[in-house]
Amino acid sequence: FGPEEWRKMGHAMVDFIADYQAGIEQMPVRSQVQPGYLRPCLPAEAPEQPESIEHILADVSQHIMPGMTHWQSPRFFGWFSANVSPPSLTADMLCGAFNVIAFSWIASPAATELEAICMDWFGKLLNLPESFLSTGGGTGVIQSTASEATLVALLAAKARAMQERPAEDGHKVVAYCSDQAHSSVKKATMVAGVHHLRVLPTHAKDGYTLQPDALEAAIQADLAAGLIPCYVVSTIGTTGSCAVDPVPDIAAVAQRHGLWAHVDAAWAGTSGLLPEMQHYFQGLDKVDSYDTNPTKGLLINFDCSCMWFREGRAAWAREALSLTPEYLRHHANELDYKDLQVPLGRKFRALKLWFIMRMYGAEGLRAYVRNRLECQRVFVELLAGEPRFIIAPGTTPTLGLVCFQLAGASEAEAEALLEAINATGKLFLVHTKLDGVITFRFAIGATNTQPHHIREAWAVMQQQLDAAPKN
Ligand code: PLP
Repeated sequence: FGPEEWRKMGHAMVDFIADYQAGIEQMPVRSQVQPGYLRPCLPAEAPEQPESIEHILADVSQHIMPGMTHWQSPRFFGWFSANVSPPSLTADMLCGAFNVIAFSWIASPAATELEAICMDWFGKLLNLPESFLSTGGGTGVIQSTASEATLVALLAAKARAMQERPAEDGHKVVAYCSDQAHSSVKKATMVAGVHHLRVLPTHAKDGYTLQPDALEAAIQADLAAGLIPCYVVSTIGTTGSCAVDPVPDIAAVAQRHGLWAHVDAAWAGTSGLLPEMQHYFQGLDKVDSYDTNPTKGLLINFDCSCMWFREGRAAWAREALSLTPEYLRHHANELDYKDLQVPLGRKFRALKLWFIMRMYGAEGLRAYVRNRLECQRVFVELLAGEPRFIIAPGTTPTLGLVCFQLAGASEAEAEALLEAINATGKLFLVHTKLDGVITFRFAIGATNTQPHHIREAWAVMQQQLDAAPKN
């Protein structure tokens, strides 16, 4: 394929995508196919002869589209949103075209240097403490996912704990989080060979937050048992309950006992752009590392998870992960990002961050996040007028996630209502359980969701509620 064929193919694809986006509201949000639907639609073997882009796109329309759950629908309220925007998608094309594997500075100096600059820009927009920025001795790095950030922080924490106790057994290391922390914390301990994870219980009366006293007591018990308390994860915006852990108090306990404090703000962190939301982001100056995904809430398509190390802390990640075989050696190895992540290969993801910051401007980004909060306000207001639903006890809609329950319903009734709502194809949401009760999660944040989409979704939910069998 030469440049002219590529131009033609690229234009066809951009047209296809623009048409897809223009028509997305007409498609069912949740895919309606059954498992195994695709194989009978496609030939059993790859083609012997080349096929045209037109032919392939026709197959996408006919066979792939029905099997898509449309995360880009403005009435997608499932899990957490996966944002995308024309600037980000365009930047991603450039990233794919350059296709540099930017593990080291020399592998493409611009990729490393733009990443460092963009992480400073973005960190400043989020009002992060100076100690996370390069000017304050901090280090920003783009991971692929929040899960990787949690793992990298754990590996750094373990390296630090072991360096301080060279004679000790690494199997004694203990990590802590709440029962509302994302499952990726548990997975990080599995991967890192950390056998002790204390999952501390939370309660509705405390807003499902990690309690400093419970952390202190667990640490004391582990110290008494001869173990090595090492790492604690707090969450700003838990996945199932929208809780904001008391980061300053958790950080104080961590500091007292020499634990590494990591903060996971995977989906909620982008609210830090707003001056009026700063109270949710207190205490970050006391923690060792912080992570948020602009892919969940800020116009960047997957993947791009922004992680910062406080001053001096990145050295521990390097201690854990640095490896430079002869063929990767060069005169500026100390700048390599390969040593702050698990895989070797890495994409030029900073382009996406750079494009959105430039093409929306800080003002545009703030307006984007404010719209999400306005959509949340609209939904909460509608919910308040419907006595058959209640906001889940112990939760407060704050950062774009509303957790609510079908009042007085059995589990089967709640599940049936959720299925009926999703089966309409008009909107999509998922559930979790809080204190054993089925809880609907209305996660607002798809790129194009506007208040009128909330009202439309609400009307469908009410229709299904009215139609539900009465017990
Ligand atoms: N942390 C929180 C609070 C999340 O909500 C999620 C996913 O929704 C994750 C971590 C995992 O994100 P990732 O897919 O980027 O690993």
